[in-house]
Amino acid sequence: MRIPFVAGNWKMNKTAAEARALVTEMIAGLSAVIGVEKVLCPPFTSLAVVATLLPGTDIGLGAQNMHWEAKGAFTGEIAPAMVAEFCQYVILGHSERRAYFGETDETVNKKLLAAQAAGLTPIICVGETLAQYEAGQTNEIVGRQVRTGLRGLDPTFASKLVIAYEPVWAIGTGKASTGENANAVVRNVIRPALAELYGAEIARQVRVLYGGSVAAANAAEFFAQPEIDGALVGGASLKAEEFVAITHAAAA
Ligand code: PEP
Repeated sequence: MRIPFVAGNWKMNKTAAEARALVTEMIAGLSAVIGVEKVLCPPFTSLAVVATLLPGTDIGLGAQNMHWEAKGAFTGEIAPAMVAEFCQYVILGHSERRAYFGETDETVNKKLLAAQAAGLTPIICVGETLAQYEAGQTNEIVGRQVRTGLRGLDPTFASKLVIAYEPVWAIGTGKASTGENANAVVRNVIRPALAELYGAEIARQVRVLYGGSVAAANAAEFFAQPEIDGALVGGASLKAEEFVAITHAAAA
């Protein structure tokens, strides 16, 4: 039994004051949703303020990235222990990190191992670009991202991973994939690649989310799919009512 999971990736949006206002607006609505793991991922600069608002709720806190090294001369970076001071979760390998900041399956793997050591639950993003999709390479690309990015983990830790299948062409475009297509990638590529690495039982336990233009209006289509356990939500997670409605859809 996989517990539904919905995370909001705020990306580079909201000052600390705006973050406080947004969380204050959504906290009651989110708390009323039972049976769904709910996670907010604001920018680093808002983690401390959001962390003060969440105690007493069942809402988790996540960062959007981190470095794999424990400390040192890495100007502008954030270490796993710094994230773990405030968060239970961390998004790793988001396609925007891969596209604009040179992240590869190898660096994602280093970060995953660091998350394991720091006691953080990672939300690992995989997905093909539009060119790869049009060239019919989805299965090959996503399979490689899982097999290379997720290797070498402790099996107990592996069973707690959260993976977000996010076709890059669907992110922020308003053109979501279909529930059927996303379900097929999870069933035919992601779970088999996980089974290769960690066995069929662990492959069954890992939560796999869909991400890419999820909104209140289309969330139910994805949540109705047997292989999809929730959503990683970008733009719609910045609107309290919309994000709460998506978590309600996950509960249903
Ligand atoms: C994301 O950033 O992970 C995402 C899915 O964005 P959006 O929902 O805006 O497409």
